[in-house]
Amino acid sequence: MSNKPLTHGNLFIIAAPSGAGKSSLINALLEKHEHHQMQVSVSSTTREPRPGERDGEHYHFLSKAQFEAKIAAGEFYEWAQVFDNYYGTSRRIIEETLTRGIDVFLDIDWQGARQVREVYPAVQSIFIMPPSLAVLEQRLRKRGQDSNDVITRRMSKAHAEMSHCHEFDYLIINDNFDHSLTQLEHIVFAQRLRTPAQQVRHAAILKDLLENGA
Ligand code: 5GP
Repeated sequence: MSNKPLTHGNLFIIAAPSGAGKSSLINALLEKHEHHQMQVSVSSTTREPRPGERDGEHYHFLSKAQFEAKIAAGEFYEWAQVFDNYYGTSRRIIEETLTRGIDVFLDIDWQGARQVREVYPAVQSIFIMPPSLAVLEQRLRKRGQDSNDVITRRMSKAHAEMSHCHEFDYLIINDNFDHSLTQLEHIVFAQRLRTPAQQVRHAAILKDLLENGA
């Protein structure tokens, strides 16, 4: 990855506690821009699929033995144990997608984020926060069918994830969905305007401006 071409796609991490609205924001970003030059990485996991989740679309669902074989073979860019299950990002797909000039979003936790920063320092990491504990709890209660114990456990997991927010480059407080979506777009599109990438994208214009203007 160190000899990456300048037209390379950008790599983003988006992390959040469950209940912050991360998935809705990522989906809205992709739909609004018709998936143009942007893609969410599909992780592998050993957890059971939830109703409505499809293999290869939401996750690649693997057995523990399959996952451990892939760890041993070095197939993961990063992996972590989250809530008793393994989760990981496939190295090959990320590298191929970035090389095609497509921006990649990693929807991963803080442990994975730390590993990605080590191997890919140019990554831009974004943390999405709920606007308050009260709103978070309301979102985690879903349809009001869960016991207080379950809610307390979800709140403490959320708190553990939020305690790592200062490790991220950008922080979005998701109070108003549309504002948060705009903020996410600003981060993504500013990154695309970085000079090295623009020099490649607009090489002909820059050549004309710089060489023929004297
Ligand atoms: P869920 O089981 O609700 O889909 O995800 C649980 C947590 O695992 C979320 O915080 C999610 O961001 C994280 N996660 C999902 N995929 C990956 C991955 O590939 N790597 C890491 N490190 N975390 C992941």
